[in-house]
Amino acid sequence: MSKYWSPLTASLEPYVPGEQPKDKRYIKLNTNESPYPPSAKVLEAINGAVNEDLRLYPDPNCEALIEAASAYYGLSPEQTFVGNGSDEILAFAFAAFFDPKKPLMFADITYSFYKVYAKFYGLEPQLISLDDELGIPLDQFHGDGHGGVIIPNPNAPTAELLSLEAIRTLLEQNRDVVVVIDEAYIDFGGESAIALIGDYDNLLVIQTLSKSRALAGLRVGFAFGSPELIDGLNRIKNSFNSYTLDRLALRGAVAALQDEEYFKQITDKVIATRERVAEQLRGLGFRVTNSKANFLFISHDDFAAKDLFLALRERGVLVRYFAQPRIDNYLRVSIGTDDEMDTFLKLTKEMIGHS
Ligand SMILES: *Cc1c(COP(=O)(O)O)cnc(C)c1O
Repeated sequence: MSKYWSPLTASLEPYVPGEQPKDKRYIKLNTNESPYPPSAKVLEAINGAVNEDLRLYPDPNCEALIEAASAYYGLSPEQTFVGNGSDEILAFAFAAFFDPKKPLMFADITYSFYKVYAKFYGLEPQLISLDDELGIPLDQFHGDGHGGVIIPNPNAPTAELLSLEAIRTLLEQNRDVVVVIDEAYIDFGGESAIALIGDYDNLLVIQTLSKSRALAGLRVGFAFGSPELIDGLNRIKNSFNSYTLDRLALRGAVAALQDEEYFKQITDKVIATRERVAEQLRGLGFRVTNSKANFLFISHDDFAAKDLFLALRERGVLVRYFAQPRIDNYLRVSIGTDDEMDTFLKLTKEMIGHS
């Protein structure tokens, strides 16, 4: 607390990202990054942009990238927005579409940044409890007087996926407010709600290059929706910072969307590793949610998640532990390479006495 802080600053509860330790080399299974490098074509494109043009501002309208992203999904540029990571787009969306006089509906267990942004914008959360199996109770996501809905699909950190039909039901139940579907993990086995944009002008779908395209360090995200929603995002962006994407990010992101073959290759690998590791963990007595993401959400009745987390950390493997009601006996484990996951499995077996 400082006497120089505004009341807003003093009231905030900032998001705490997964640790990025510098003290030693860990196997990092704690922030859902890709274990694989970005496409070589992306690195080449970024290198090609390292030149004296950096003295010039980047294109504030991000035309080339918007063109590439809209064409990739069969949409028009008027239905497409790009931002400095999907977190930035979420921040813009909260400001653009949600009214502080009405509560914002989201799950009690979900991406923790939603609560942080709600606080920042003075929005009251209307929390919907996940069911006993940690699934999204679709029938609870409606009502009178709420100002919007936000849901990650697959949900984080539970990794569970809603079908496209379920998303359609959600939209039918919420015709008069904006429904944001945060698809950070959709490429690992889900079906994108982008297919529904033509039918629902209140649907905003947010995606990112951070997870499935191995570009968390480049900071590029997308939003897709009706032209009026995209206009709303642009109004906020241009009242805040016109140059959210730099020249290197703009070039690298276009190249990422063009290398479909590499994208397919690394997502297929992550999915295959996920299925193999999930099966082995179940064999060890873990409850493993039905993950369609690049991480597993696991729990063991006989071993406290916090102890496993600390023991793994001690042995050089970082996973994520959330000291939060209902999920404080769970670990979120990002999918690494097969070698990394074998190390994780071996240590886990040792700890629970299954060697
Ligand atoms: C990782 C993640 C994001 C943020 O992604 P960036 O594009 O890197 O900002 C947004 N939503 C969810 C649910 C995530 O897990």
